[in-house]
Amino acid sequence: MREKENELSVYESMAARYDVAARKLGLDEGLSNYLRTPNREIIVHIPVTMDDGTLRVFDGYRVQHSIARGPCKGGLRYSLDVSLDEIRGLAAEMTWKCAVVNIPFGGAKGGIICDPSKLSLGELERITRRYTAEILDYIGPDRDVPAPDMNTNEQTMAWIMDTYSMHMRQTVTGSVTGKPFSLGGSLGRREATGRGCMITADEALKRFGWQRESTRVIVQGFGNVGSQAARLMHESGYKIIGVADISGGVFNTSGIDIPRLLGYKEKHKTLKGFDGGESIGAQEILEQECDILLPAATESVITSKNAHKVKAKLLVEGANSPTTPPADDILFERGVFVIPDILANAGGVTVSYFEWVQDRQGYFWPEATVNDRLKHIMVDAFGGVVRFGEKHNVNNRIAAYMLAIDRVAFCIKLRGIYA
Ligand code: NAD
Repeated sequence: MREKENELSVYESMAARYDVAARKLGLDEGLSNYLRTPNREIIVHIPVTMDDGTLRVFDGYRVQHSIARGPCKGGLRYSLDVSLDEIRGLAAEMTWKCAVVNIPFGGAKGGIICDPSKLSLGELERITRRYTAEILDYIGPDRDVPAPDMNTNEQTMAWIMDTYSMHMRQTVTGSVTGKPFSLGGSLGRREATGRGCMITADEALKRFGWQRESTRVIVQGFGNVGSQAARLMHESGYKIIGVADISGGVFNTSGIDIPRLLGYKEKHKTLKGFDGGESIGAQEILEQECDILLPAATESVITSKNAHKVKAKLLVEGANSPTTPPADDILFERGVFVIPDILANAGGVTVSYFEWVQDRQGYFWPEATVNDRLKHIMVDAFGGVVRFGEKHNVNNRIAAYMLAIDRVAFCIKLRGIYA
């Protein structure tokens, strides 16, 4: 088993998997070092006038990992847990994710250290606009295109798009994705990550000969990804028996009434107190008997400490980096079929790509077209990863990394190193 040192470092987790995949590919050492390292790391200190008139300074990051295959693409998150290590790891994962689904982007990620639950809408807007102004020279439709992530949403993207546009003296809708539809957003974007998770789960079910109706699912996280995945899977016939958010969760082996839970969350902003099942802890829910476990909350929730307690047969990683490398080893030994994050949750960036294309064309597609094209890409990527894994005798995560690294390395070799 691999070292548990630095188990919770998102960058180290990415790098551990990267090293295994690059070695198996026989990547040249110089190129391997280059691809392991981000192109650019931007640190900003954002002065913001708070509602009470005081001035506070917030720290923010934007890490751009690679532009080998196209402009950078990646989310922006607001959380007290944001760190440069985390953003660096997630930026690299974005490069691999875009390459797995074969869309023409490299990877980036951004974050601001703040607690959005303690900030007013006006304070959030000022933080977002000043952050955008600080990184303005490095973003844009042909450079780096931000999108929502933890604790950011369509409104955040609208503020970024407006700030960028004011500086450019023209409206540039393609500067961000995950925008409101009326500002150049795409139909289907809101559901895309959850829908992508379901499409990959459907593909795994076909392999196992399982039926949706008898497949029990537990979802951790009930934000953008988790709530949409739970809703779509419930509507398609899966039996959702457990759901949790940061306040705790609900568990019911007869199945949870997801539309009622969505209504409850909308009204109360939390799952706490929902009476459609037994209440259960947000971590404890990961260890319950089920067929599919879908972590869609945050990173490093499945570690060497609890991986042996996971009872699911199929792990669909809606969140980024929910499993640590030592936990990977344990799950692999126990025969859990893992659909890794860079494949399972790639539906979001895929429809972000569609949004960017639509903005550039100024021509918008019907939702059915978006969903059909998403399905096509996800099914193709799932098949590609699983076949690659079988051919090279590696697990799905390493297969996804190998496939992605190979694609990026090929582009770099074709382009050559400029100097
Ligand atoms: P979000 O902020 O909308 O929702 C996060 C959810 O997780 C909330 O319900 C929150 O209560 C819950 N949560 C947070 N910490 C938790 C914990 N320790 N235990 C249990 N629940 C917890 O965020 P999101 O956009 O849904 O993103 C969730 C994950 O999916 C992140 O890892 C993100 O990077 C990843 N992701 C998001 C997208 C996207 O399109 N939004 C795309 C790809 C990957």
